[in-house]
Amino acid sequence: MTSSSPNIIAIDGPAASGKSTLGRSLAQTLGYIFFDTGVMYRAVTYLALQFDMDLRDEAVITKLAQDSKLDVRPATKEDGRANDIMAGDKDITWELRQGNVDANVSIVAAHAGVRTALSAQQRKIGLRGKIVMVGRDIGTVVLPEADIKVYLDASAEERAKRRYNEVIARGETADYEKILEKIIERDHIDSTRAVAPLKPAEDAVILDSDKMSVEEVLAHVLELCK
Ligand code: C5P
Repeated sequence: MTSSSPNIIAIDGPAASGKSTLGRSLAQTLGYIFFDTGVMYRAVTYLALQFDMDLRDEAVITKLAQDSKLDVRPATKEDGRANDIMAGDKDITWELRQGNVDANVSIVAAHAGVRTALSAQQRKIGLRGKIVMVGRDIGTVVLPEADIKVYLDASAEERAKRRYNEVIARGETADYEKILEKIIERDHIDSTRAVAPLKPAEDAVILDSDKMSVEEVLAHVLELCK
């Protein structure tokens, strides 16, 4: 890429809108780092559940977010993961995709203290540049100076269908109606919370992945990068 290429690319949007697929392909094509910030909120949720903590207790969960030794490393296994997610020296990559983490992560992510702790780390990583960062508030709060901001949307039904297919592909059982209900609930919490709610940045390009294939979305964003 030339020196006029975007240094920071922010991709935000609701659960299962295809942000990670787009972000990974984009990072691979550009030779950039891919960073899915959702894993940090998921890791804190997973640990809080492990320690049987009260997820609604902001002080306790904030302390956990501040003290946890979380690390996002290059993938050491070819099992579909984008990165190895470590808590201390334990690999928790796939634990973060469990249903109880999905069901509770938005409660944890709504705490202001948790967001302050995690978004400061995300910002530091993002400012190193040549990065595609994916989340809910990257273009609005974490890196408002991002060169390119994409807000990837899709209907709740389409997103639930994708999540259902992912779970089935992993050889697990799934209930479409339950997944849809949970996605709608998570979106509601994420977009109505007081701190850093899910919404497109004013200068974001909004794309609807109901109407576009993965390849079309990628081609469109690559065009924006030129
Ligand atoms: O993207 P993913 O579904 O893994 O994100 C899990 C949850 O983490 C979201 O539903 C949201 O509550 C939270 N999150 C957030 N801000 C981010 C990324 C994720 O609040 N930048």
